[in-house]
Amino acid sequence: MARKPLVVGNWKMHGTVEFAVGLAQGCVELARCNPAVDLGIAPPFTALAAVRDVLRGSPVALCAQNVHDQPQGAYTGEISTAMLADLGCSMVVVGHSERRHVFGESDELIGRKARTALDNDLVPILCVGEKLDEREAGRTLDVIRRQFETGVAGLDPLGVQRIVLAYEPVWAIGTGKVAKPEDAQAAHAFLRRLREAKAAGSSAVVRILYGGSVKPDNAAGLFARPEIDGFLVGGASLKTSDFGGIVAAGGTKRT
Ligand code: PEP
Repeated sequence: MARKPLVVGNWKMHGTVEFAVGLAQGCVELARCNPAVDLGIAPPFTALAAVRDVLRGSPVALCAQNVHDQPQGAYTGEISTAMLADLGCSMVVVGHSERRHVFGESDELIGRKARTALDNDLVPILCVGEKLDEREAGRTLDVIRRQFETGVAGLDPLGVQRIVLAYEPVWAIGTGKVAKPEDAQAAHAFLRRLREAKAAGSSAVVRILYGGSVKPDNAAGLFARPEIDGFLVGGASLKTSDFGGIVAAGGTKRT
């Protein structure tokens, strides 16, 4: 079965509600012009409700950038998966490198978040990726194996099939240094084998995204690699013309 390309924009901590609404309107139009590509957007929490109203009736998925691992309770300032589902989210990013390395989230915590998300019918986008020193020490595959295996620990094969994986080398995020398509392809192929071992048959259906300085001018080269099913896009998702260039590149993908 073919894997339909998926491109998700992560807006991080940028913009007002008004800015988010404008950007979301642009994404609805992109989805209309690019039916061969699935689209998702992850606005800041403060803009989720307003963006949900813009996306209503469109195929663009509403995605949260983060979630707490517990279903409810005395966790001041946190947001639960049930709250996200209530707002209309269908996806949530877990294990983004900024959560891992700026906020110190552990592999185990990220695994709990993935499980809680699935329990509430949210698709987790589980991010994995090595830091520069780990890459230079030749530990890329060890690191992403550990992050993947702990991230999916406790999930049954159906759960492993439902998650979206994102390979995001930390040194490529927000730096303008994109991974070489052949290196990203190798990491994706490795992750696909790990995933197949946990959920037989998943290779055919589950999508593995690449993230790290994807721009309109490098998206087609990455999309040309058979293991790269789409992108998690940070900076370039904040400008409709740039995001549109990336999404349009997905239309060239042979599935
Ligand atoms: C990201 O934050 O997931 C990301 C890939 O950022 P950027 O595209 O800006 O490198």
